[in-house]
Amino acid sequence: MGPFITFEGIEGSGKSTQIRLASQHLEERGIRPLVTGEPGGTSLGVKIRELLLNRGPVEIGAESELLLFAAARSQHVQALILPALREGRWVLCDRFSDATIAYQGFGRGLDVAFVRNVNTFAGGGLVPRLTILVDLPVETGLGRALDRAARQSGPAEDRFEHEEMAFHRRVRSGYIEMARREPDRFRVVDGDRSIQEIHREVCMHLDALLPIAGDSCPSGTSAATKNPSPS
Ligand code: ADP
Repeated sequence: MGPFITFEGIEGSGKSTQIRLASQHLEERGIRPLVTGEPGGTSLGVKIRELLLNRGPVEIGAESELLLFAAARSQHVQALILPALREGRWVLCDRFSDATIAYQGFGRGLDVAFVRNVNTFAGGGLVPRLTILVDLPVETGLGRALDRAARQSGPAEDRFEHEEMAFHRRVRSGYIEMARREPDRFRVVDGDRSIQEIHREVCMHLDALLPIAGDSCPSGTSAATKNPSPS
């Protein structure tokens, strides 16, 4: 199985930007990762994404929201993620189960233990090998997300940008709590820095998963070398 790596964080934390750069970094090292994200990744996921993120007047309760995300995830894991991992490919995924715990559990107030059970069912028990949590103050993230929406042409996706600040603060602290509970899986990177600075740190964490880690991080940052070349 290839390594399954997820990127998490609040809106506008820079996950998509960092995934794009991380994918380029891996490609420079001869690895062609599958880059995907949630909700989405499959035709069913795209339809569910439209429902969830462009809901307009459609009312979706917290429980229905949880189940829609779960339905999208189940299809995503079975049809796309697992087959790629089984082929030995690296998979980089923009949000996964932790987002459901952060948003529907901590944010919406659904029972976190129940959300975990739904996640286990929907994700077929798949747990990321590494989760990069891009952390930053909610004001900064939302400011960026709103700027991004203003620049987009056509109907912009209304993600969770219009939820109250307190909602986003609960989501952020939920993520931080999860990272504290699973320090082996999570790497928390400070997202309130330049894109390149964050990227250098992300590279370090990715390189630590390579069997033979090199020093190809930009600007000479040396990679974490867990398994140096035996030769
Ligand atoms: P996310 O996927 O986490 O919602 P994006 O990667 O789409 O976030 O970034 C949101 C917006 O902020 C984009 O317009 C992006 O260009 C910008 N951005 C991303 N990272 C940074 C950064 N470190 N500093 C300033 N702006 C950033």
